[in-house]
Amino acid sequence: MPFASLGLTADLLRAIAAQGYTSPTSIQSQAIPTILEGRDVLAGAQTGTGKTAAFALPMLQLLEARPRRGKSRLQPRALVLTPTRELAAQVAESFLAYGEHSRLRTTVIFGGVGFEPQRQTLRRGVDVLVATPGRLLDHAGQGTVDLSAIEILVLDEADRMLDMGFIHDIRKVLALLPKERQNLLFSATYSADIKRLADGLLNNPALIEVARRNSAAETVAQQVYRVDKAGKRDLLIHLIEDGQWFQVLVFTRTKHGANRLSEQLQRAGIEAAAIHGNKSQGARTRALAGFKDGSVRVLVATDIAARGLDIERLPHVVNYELPNVPEDYVHRIGRTGRAGESGLAVSLVDREEQGFLKDIQRLLKRDIEVVPLPAFTPRKLPAATPASGRDAGESGNARHGAGRHRNNAQPQGEAPARARKRRPRRRPRQASDNVR
Ligand code: AMP
Repeated sequence: MPFASLGLTADLLRAIAAQGYTSPTSIQSQAIPTILEGRDVLAGAQTGTGKTAAFALPMLQLLEARPRRGKSRLQPRALVLTPTRELAAQVAESFLAYGEHSRLRTTVIFGGVGFEPQRQTLRRGVDVLVATPGRLLDHAGQGTVDLSAIEILVLDEADRMLDMGFIHDIRKVLALLPKERQNLLFSATYSADIKRLADGLLNNPALIEVARRNSAAETVAQQVYRVDKAGKRDLLIHLIEDGQWFQVLVFTRTKHGANRLSEQLQRAGIEAAAIHGNKSQGARTRALAGFKDGSVRVLVATDIAARGLDIERLPHVVNYELPNVPEDYVHRIGRTGRAGESGLAVSLVDREEQGFLKDIQRLLKRDIEVVPLPAFTPRKLPAATPASGRDAGESGNARHGAGRHRNNAQPQGEAPARARKRRPRRRPRQASDNVR
């Protein structure tokens, strides 16, 4: 489908051609006509999908076509909220590029730089304001910007804004906007928090979903082990030790699950740390530093926590539990694969997760290889210490849970010497190249 069939004006088509874009991306062909109709949109799309043009192009067209609502120059007509100043600057640049033949003014404001120059720019009048939430509220509080005539609101990378703790600021901004407006929410993933935000914000939204272009889903080796819930821990320990995996990112669905698995791995003699939303920034930083220097071999994370971390290109990613949102799977496995080397994404799937697996395979448009369970004798873990009391008594599960997969040639209940003996710790090869 060419850009010309999306209903964009000749000026915008010229600007698009000047950018060298020949055809719209999936999110663009879905979102542009919908936004031009004036509808609210909930879009699942991450960076790299062309999402910025998907909202910027139709917004420029709508604003150009209708008269200003507000009388004052201090009243912008459209507001784009972003989590970071880098993204704010990029989005503003896109508006400037796509709007090169329009008379609309775009301005960007964010924290960490002088307030006064921004105040002066705002005084000259602005149509599209791109901002990070905190600095925007400072300006609103000082009366240097008036948000009462906003016609279109965009929350860009809304999930990241929530991860970064901006929910209160976002709510304060929303309270300053007129009720009558068009709302566009872009988020790479849908957590319960995003759903809550979307429910309160969007009016009968069009739902648009796309996967990342050239996604890792097409290039990363992916495997599924069918294993019952109780056998997952032993299988994971076996895969890590037998495969000599030294830098493993493991995803669990819950914070509690992340804590518990991390404790169990530690009891098995595998250095592990958990990161999730309840951990302090200090604890997260320490865990990441340990993962970098090789003292933490396994990082157990929830989706949200992992997204806040700058980790990419790891050799091994494990889905200890499948995400219930298929796009999260794509996001997770996008972490694997070092430059020039292939990565491996392994999913441990129990019976209750078959439905999630089907949804994921539908999104990927292909089946993931199912690997037979290896034969091994599960390790008996030492009892939990009082500090990890929650897990006390669970070590027995190890034997029962995975009993089905036991190599019957081994005497049951007795771990082979190889498994019992700790491997000497080895620093991961070029670990710091993989984790920034
Ligand atoms: P975004 O997902 O908005 O961060 O965009 C990712 C990159 O894709 C940016 O460098 C855009 O300039 C580029 N891009 C956006 N739309 C298209 C398109 N239709 N064709 C080619 N490149 C595009």
